[in-house]
This record gives sequence, C-alpha cells and structure tokens, in this order.
Amino acid sequence: MESDIKLIDEAGKRLDGRKIDELREIKIEAGVLHRAEGSCYLEWGGNKVVAAVYGPREAIPKHTQDPLKAVVRARYNMAAFSVDDRKRPGPDRRSREISKVTSEALEKIVITDKFPRAAIDVNIEVLEAEAGTRCAGLTAAGVALADAGIPMKDIPVACAAGKIGSHDENGNKKGGYVVLDLGKKEDNFGDADLPIGISPRTGEIILLQMDGHLTLEEFDQALDLAIKGCKIISEIQKKALLDKYQIDLEVN
Ligand code: UDP
Repeated sequence: MESDIKLIDEAGKRLDGRKIDELREIKIEAGVLHRAEGSCYLEWGGNKVVAAVYGPREAIPKHTQDPLKAVVRARYNMAAFSVDDRKRPGPDRRSREISKVTSEALEKIVITDKFPRAAIDVNIEVLEAEAGTRCAGLTAAGVALADAGIPMKDIPVACAAGKIGSHDENGNKKGGYVVLDLGKKEDNFGDADLPIGISPRTGEIILLQMDGHLTLEEFDQALDLAIKGCKIISEIQKKALLDKYQIDLEVN
C-alpha cells in the first residue's frame, strides 16, 4: 500500500481538505422504498447506498431455519455501474465476505429469539462506491431495520479509521497519520484501513476488520477515532428516523 502521491500535507490537511479527524459529508433518509418493510438511502462522501429490509418471514428453504431464533441474512451487492471500471455483476469473494461479516454484526444486535424459524433479509445495494462501502452498508442497514420496526438492542453504526502518508512523494519512509474515514485515494494508497461496527449505546464492537499495518499504539488510536466517528454518525441515523416519523405523525 505504498504511496507515490501526497495524501496529507505538513499541516495535517488531506487531499479533499479534511482534517485528520473529520468525516466525509453524510446524509441519511429513512423509509425510501414502499414495498420493503423498512429502508434507508445513505450518501457518505461519494458513496450512495440503499438498504431494504424484508421480514421477519418464514425462512425458506426450511433447512436454513433455526427453531430457536431468526436468521439475519444480509446481502451486500455493488452495482456494475457503481465504480469507474465496470464491475462484473453478481456475487464475488469480496461481496460474500462483506455479506457474511454484516450478517454476523446484525445478528449481535437484532433480538432474534423473538422470531424462531424466521428470516430477516437485509439487502444492501451500492449504487456508487468511493471507499468505505461496508461501513455505509451496515449503517444504512441499521436505519432500515429500525424503520422496519425490528426489535434491536440498539441501532448499529459503522465507520473506519486508517493510516496515511507514511511515505513522502519520493517514496521515503516517514511517520504517517492515523485519520478518520478514508477516501478513495487514501484507501488505495494509504497504509491501513480499520473498519468497525459498534452498538453505540453499549460500545460493543460488532464488526472489526483490518487491512494493512498498524503498530499497537496506532491501532488503539485508530479504534478510538473510528468509535468517535460512529458516535457522530449514530446521531445522524437517529435524526433521519425522527425526521421520517415526525412527518408521518404530522400527516396522520
Ligand atoms: N472497488 C472497486 N471495484 C471493486 C471493489 C471495490 O472499484 O470491485 C473500490 C470501491 O470504491 C470500494 C473501494 O474500492 O469502495 C474499497 O473497497 P474495499 O474492498 O476496501 O471495501 P470498502 O472500503 O468499500 O468497504
């Protein structure tokens, strides 16, 4: 992940003008699809993501049922037109991995034992991708599940931190910076990316992945920064839900 472009200047200003602890702009809207039980549209920097929740409904095929609880089936998909080079449609290793870690994260938050033998399907469609889509997907899924009225311990939220700029433009090694919410070039040419998902109320970590290298100290810094990011985004999620249901209450 060595960089030959300057990702951050001496004053700590990043390529897109952000400070090291600054998120890209995030907009969230709840309840955008009428056929889904719950849904969410989310823009996060250059990412555009829709999440749609169906269920709880009988899990089919039957052998996938759990007699004691519901199964949460997240399906993450990147549209063919979501990236500069057209992406081959259909599932691949990366999308299966993201679907799996997202399902596992959501199962820790959804109160699944209320719905034995059921499935809760969470579809995440990435319409435009610009780094950080698994965090955008999990964050949108949290809002869509809440919009569907699925009982949860909390509204899950995700955010990444990482490390950039440990090489100057001549390729010489130097310290580097731990930063919040990597953009596309930072993801491509940075040193490390640490996406996490949390339950913001309890602080429980429900997803943690890492790409690249961090020292233990940098890891702790990145984790703290990502948790701070999650807490900011959690407020935007709650506001999106309040906006939707306040309007509904006013209309009815
Ligand atoms: N990407 C791409 N083509 C692909 C997969 C990913 O262009 O087939 C881009 C996309 O912008 C994505 C970024 O690479 O957001 C980083 O991908 P990564 O696997 O790190 O996951 P993400 O950061 O999106 O969770």
